[in-house]
Amino acid sequence: LQMLHDAAVAFGAAHQELHAVRTQLEHLAHTDTLTGLANRRMFEIHANQSFEHARRYQEAVSVILFDIDHFKRINDQYGHEGGDIVLGDLGMFLKMSVRGADRPAARIGGEEFALFLSHAPAEVAHQTAERLRKGIAALKITLPSGESLQFTASMGVAQCTADDADLQALIRRADLALYQAKHNGRNRVELAT
Ligand code: GH3
Ligand code: MG
Ligand code: MG
Repeated sequence: LQMLHDAAVAFGAAHQELHAVRTQLEHLAHTDTLTGLANRRMFEIHANQSFEHARRYQEAVSVILFDIDHFKRINDQYGHEGGDIVLGDLGMFLKMSVRGADRPAARIGGEEFALFLSHAPAEVAHQTAERLRKGIAALKITLPSGESLQFTASMGVAQCTADDADLQALIRRADLALYQAKHNGRNRVELAT
């Protein structure tokens, strides 16, 4: 009976350890290592859920896409390491800035980020984007060399409408708005039509 008990205890411990490892692996699979934000995979899972939810309950949901302005110049001037520090610091800023949101900010590309907002019509998402844009422009990044730098980002905002056949259609409109923001001079937010 004692042996059986010991075996049960050992099994329990192994099971717990396995659970911890699995949780850790899931976290890694969903997290971007450089910024600590959600990765593209996680964004797509969340975005699909939110899109379907919005459809079913006719809720206003919006997406914000943004892209760092002239990031290549930052890499050119401060090296790839400098660029990586900018991305890391931006990640920290985003985590703090959208803490209350039910969906985390995500890094969906090299210097491209996305945010899915539930219960947010276009005006609310636009305000959120403006707040983030201003916050980003005000960030001061200090490099290990002691140099400091600032940067800006351009943003596209789109609210999900009945005309969006699928998530891709919504993302495409936000991306077009982002393209407009770049075209119209960068460091600005444009609302999708
Ligand atoms: P725009 O204002 O039009 O967005 O110009 P841009 O220079 O930001 O855009 P572009 O697409 O020309 O360059 C993006 C650069 O981002 C090129 C690429 O080397 C860099 N990049 C992508 N991923 C990373 C990364 O993980 N770390 C660093 N340091 N740079 C990266
Ligand atoms: Mg880009
Ligand atoms: Mg860019």
